[in-house]
Amino acid sequence: MKLEKLDLSRILKDFGSRLIGDDRSKKIICETLLLFPKAVVDYITRNVWFITPFDDAWSFTLEADGLASKSLVFLSDDLLRQDDDQIRYSIAHEIAHIMLGHRNPYGVIIRKGSDKRSETDADEFARYYLESPKVS
Ligand SMILES: [Zn+2]
Repeated sequence: MKLEKLDLSRILKDFGSRLIGDDRSKKIICETLLLFPKAVVDYITRNVWFITPFDDAWSFTLEADGLASKSLVFLSDDLLRQDDDQIRYSIAHEIAHIMLGHRNPYGVIIRKGSDKRSETDADEFARYYLESPKVS
């Protein structure tokens, strides 16, 4: 049995309109996802929106229909100015929260360190996939 090969173009296609941002942001999000098992990639590309700032739009509107029971990950300008390792780590950390089922009820701002347990779990999950050697 041949393992299905995941690549950037396939991930981009699966995200479709759920991946919003400039090409660099899209690329690093897809590259980070490639570090995760296929089941995670499939879940994320189908159920998660990634929103990053992009040059040619001041603001935009998302239709609620498209967002129903989906998660939305926002990456800030500040984060995107950090080095690639930091960006990848933050993306993996957010993916971890989603895969571990951590809920962030609408309107609640989670401060750094306010929920230590779920932060530790998300860090562990993220680190596991970022650091595990790639088998080709
Ligand atoms: Zn977190």
